[in-house]
Parts: sequence; structure tokens; C-alpha cells
Amino acid sequence: MDTLIIKDINNKTMQTAGEIIRGGGVVAFPTETVYGLGASAYDDAAVKKIYEAKGRPSDNPLIVHVADVCDVETVAREIPWNAKKILESFAPGPFTIILKKKDGISDTVTAGLDTVGIRIPSHPVAREFIRACGVPIAAPSANLSGKPSPTRAEHVIHDMLGRIDAIICGGDASVGVESTIIDLTADVPTILRPGGITLEDLKKVCTNVEVDRHVLEAVAAAEQPKCPGMKYKHYAPDADVTVVEGELSACEKKIKELVKREKEGGKTVGVLAAADADFGADLFISSGKDNREFARVLFDALRSFDKNGIQTVLVQLSSNDEYSLAVKNRLYKSAGNKIIFV
Ligand code: AMP
Ligand code: MG
Repeated sequence: MDTLIIKDINNKTMQTAGEIIRGGGVVAFPTETVYGLGASAYDDAAVKKIYEAKGRPSDNPLIVHVADVCDVETVAREIPWNAKKILESFAPGPFTIILKKKDGISDTVTAGLDTVGIRIPSHPVAREFIRACGVPIAAPSANLSGKPSPTRAEHVIHDMLGRIDAIICGGDASVGVESTIIDLTADVPTILRPGGITLEDLKKVCTNVEVDRHVLEAVAAAEQPKCPGMKYKHYAPDADVTVVEGELSACEKKIKELVKREKEGGKTVGVLAAADADFGADLFISSGKDNREFARVLFDALRSFDKNGIQTVLVQLSSNDEYSLAVKNRLYKSAGNKIIFV
């Protein structure tokens, strides 16, 4: 299949993208979190193409994207008061709310669940694209299933060229990790996946917020997490990833030791850490000054290690802040829970 690459964002090209969606096609588009892979949420056959293009298991539901808060009621059966409060405070922005779904949203989108994830991205190109489509857009991240999510147009082109109808190129994602997923179908709002809207943000507007325990645990496939996607292998580059977590100097010492050992074993080694403490790695990538910056560079770094033929990746995790939960959640999964605490 020929994939149309849209680099010029204007009224005409957005109308073209909208026509592709209304005609049952699949279009990748930029958002502030990661790039999405969109199809009409009303079109079962189109949504199935998303699962095919990604190689995504069919029991892992997609998030429905709308352009404005007033459109949430076209997707949700009811909007409870805490959802209204969260939307008022943070929309548009990097979060998804889980509500009871309205009829008409394809069962393929929700993987047969009675609930639906709804998101209003803040990225101007995402909103322009959704408006041009005129329908709610079902979209997961625009990567091959299991691979790190795409934060740059080149990542999408790498994974999706020839598999989908069009790719809208809109620069680099500013948040860099997927949306915070907040389940609002029970009394207490629960974070199923941490992201750009943090636990601390939510606590400012909701008296009680919980974090689902699967967020930081290895999950046995037999156990059913509330967020179906959490049970699958995720964010995994081809390289073998190990997280080294703890106090800065202890981590640096441990990483240096591991770099030496891996290189002696004939492996090419990459290090992702806050400061280049002369680790002796084949490729060093800086994770930035805090976890907000770490989130922004994380997926691009994992893809860069693969591109450069790195076999072993060592990641330093030392600082704790509001964004730690989102970074840790992704890193633990990339590492298949290979974590060394020092
Ligand atoms: P992605 O955008 O690729 O990260 O995929 C969407 C994520 O949202 C997956 O982890 C899904 O499991 C999750 N999700 C979508 N709909 C629901 C829902 N109704 N209930 C719980 N989780 C959901
Ligand atoms: Mg994904």
C-alpha cells in the first residue's frame, strides 16, 4: 500500500486526511503525548485495520479521541461529576478518562468492554485533524505492537510506511509518554497508567485518587488488570534493557561495572543516564535534568540504541519527582522487570 506522507499542515491537507478517514482509511497523526494511529470510531472495518497494521492483540482496546470537551457526550453514556471536574481542570491535555460507552462506538474499539477511553489532545494539529474528520477517532499509539511508542514522525515512518494510508508529520511530541489513563467508572478515580497529568495534579481536584497496583508490578498474563494493555510486553527495543535504580553515585558505580562486564562479554553497550560519568559505553544518551525531560527523550533513546546496533542498554533511575511514576512504569516494562536496586 502507498502511504501518503503529509508534511505541509494546512486546511487542504487536513481535509484530505479527513476524507481518508471517512472513506474507511487509517491515518497516523501527532499528539502531545505520542503519535496516534487513527480510524473512525464508528467504522468497524477501519478499526480492524489499525489492529492489523500494529499487530495488536484484539482484546486490547483503543482510546477514542475528540477535539473538544463538548464532544465527550457523543462517546460516553454519562459524564459523572468527577469527570466534569477533571475535564474542566485539565482538558485539552495528556490524559484519558474511562467512562461507560455510548452505543454506536464500535465493539472492536473497546474490545467488547462496556467502557471506553476518551481523550482530548491539546496538540493543535491533532485537534485540526479530528475536526476535519468530523467523527470521533479511535487511536492507539502508532508503533508496531510491543515496540517503543513513536514520539517523532520518523519513528512512525519506520514502523508504519506501507501499512497505513497516511502519516501526518507534526514534529516531536512534547510529553513523550502516553496519556495518563484515569478510570472514572467506580467511586474513587483510579490511575491505570501514569502519564503527563500526574497523581499530584489529580489530587488537587479530586479528594481521593488511587493508583492501580499493576502500574509498577510485573503482571502475570493470567491476572486480569483493569487496563487490558498493561499485561502485554511493551516498549521493548531489540536491545536487552536493565534498569539500575537508586542513589546517583551508587548507580554510576554499578553501571560502570556492568558496562565493563558486558563489553568483556563482547556486547555493544548503551547507557541512558542523567550525566555522562565516563561510563565507557559505546553510546551514551542523556536522560535530562529531571523526569519530565526523561519522559520526553525515553522512547527516542530506546529506538536510537537499536538503530546503532547496541545490544545491552543500562538505564540509570535516580531522581524522584511527580513524573517518576510515568517514567518508571515505561522503563520497568522495557526492561521486562530486570531492575537492579542499589
Ligand atoms: P495505547 O494508546 O496504544 O497506549 O493503547 C491504549 C491503552 O488504553 C491500552 O493500554 C488499553 O488497554 C487502554 N484502554 C483503552 N480503553 C480502555 C478501557 N475501556 N478500560 C481500560 N483501559 C482501556
Ligand atoms: Mg501503545
